[in-house]
Amino acid sequence: MEFSCTSIVYLHLVSLLLFVASSKIEALDPTLSTPEIISRFQQYLQINTAQPNPQYYEAADFLISQAKSLSLESQTIEFVKGKPLVLLKWPGTNPHLPSILLYSHTDVVPSEDHKWTHHPFSAHIDEKGNIYARGSQDMKCVGMQYLEAIRRLKASGFQPLRTVYLSFAPDEEIGGHDGAEKFYESKLFDDLNVGIVLDEGLASPSENYRAFYAERSPWWLVIKAIGTPGHGARLYDNTAMENLLKSIESIRRFRASQFDMIKVGLKGEGEVISVNMVFLKAGTPSPTGFVMNVQPSEAEAGIDIRVPPTADPESLEKRIAEEWAPIARNMTFSFKQKAPVHDKFGKPMLTKADRSNPWWTLLEDAVHKAGGKLGKPEIFPGATDARYLRRRGLPAIGFSPIANTPLLLHEHDEFLNQDVYLKGIEIYEAIIKAYASFAERGTDKGSRDEL
Ligand SMILES: [Zn+2]
Repeated sequence: MEFSCTSIVYLHLVSLLLFVASSKIEALDPTLSTPEIISRFQQYLQINTAQPNPQYYEAADFLISQAKSLSLESQTIEFVKGKPLVLLKWPGTNPHLPSILLYSHTDVVPSEDHKWTHHPFSAHIDEKGNIYARGSQDMKCVGMQYLEAIRRLKASGFQPLRTVYLSFAPDEEIGGHDGAEKFYESKLFDDLNVGIVLDEGLASPSENYRAFYAERSPWWLVIKAIGTPGHGARLYDNTAMENLLKSIESIRRFRASQFDMIKVGLKGEGEVISVNMVFLKAGTPSPTGFVMNVQPSEAEAGIDIRVPPTADPESLEKRIAEEWAPIARNMTFSFKQKAPVHDKFGKPMLTKADRSNPWWTLLEDAVHKAGGKLGKPEIFPGATDARYLRRRGLPAIGFSPIANTPLLLHEHDEFLNQDVYLKGIEIYEAIIKAYASFAERGTDKGSRDEL
């Protein structure tokens, strides 16, 4: 094909127009410029919402001002006085379809300020573009990225079919009892008719984002041995210490067998039953420490156990009763906490993370479309507020779009690079667009079970 001089000029003109169109949104709307996006993130990070005295009202005011600038409906709910939960709404054109809930928590864990390179509430940006702040990974980033993604979608003229809600909840870092737990059990939540919830994930040191379909349930076990007291020089059977040590040996063998599966790559961190001893209590106190020539009559140990939903809780209970604290060795046990492994329907508390779950498929495809990579779905090793939702049999996916970043949640010098943050906004833009446009199977209440 041949081009005349005029057609070449014409082609140049077309490509120029296309370029102008693509950068038009940013040019027309200065709030979409990178400095403004980063500055909003910094403002949120600078609000000190650290436990045990989080400035919840300052955070709520900031979030509501953001909602206003985006023309989102907003309300503040206090299930417990002084602990506001901010709920935002972007109404969909079909309010009968189950809605999307984008969840985040506003509180952060405390920090030892003097051990940080930059003050944890300064949101200082260094020469590499790393933003230092408590909450930069866990999880103020995600809360703001949802809002920024919506800002971009609105600027592009996108109209959601499904209603999109955003909830900013208090107290996740202290168990979520006055936040997510009450919210997910409320009539208000039922009325939102939620079909899928996005909650937090974890930073990934590799280029693959991490997504979580379940989490482990904490069982905090205390085992206690009783035995015959006696002189420290005597050898005899059935002392409390010996009884407890036999259990500890058995527990350590079990721990090693679980850890081995991680070490050889057979299972991921969240897929095994982790068992860690957290306290030992025994001995007869004396003014200088402990009495050295008396074998005590009681000995106790505390163990933090984390049980994945894929494990059999009954066989673990049997193991505890028969091997770790058997009556035959004068032992008893109790739980300081024993979170359920199964949901209220008796099914393992997990969200399907394969092509049978349209929400999973949509997320996976959206991440790829936005140029991201996703690792194998995982079980979250710790606990998040998503457990209160999965307990009700509702689906939740844990996801924080943080790749190529060391995992620093709850550590000193928690940071997030600004390019990683900006990329995460694009990822959420693709996910929210896909979720809010989804009109097919699995859209009515009756099919929730299979989701
Ligand atoms: Zn968190």
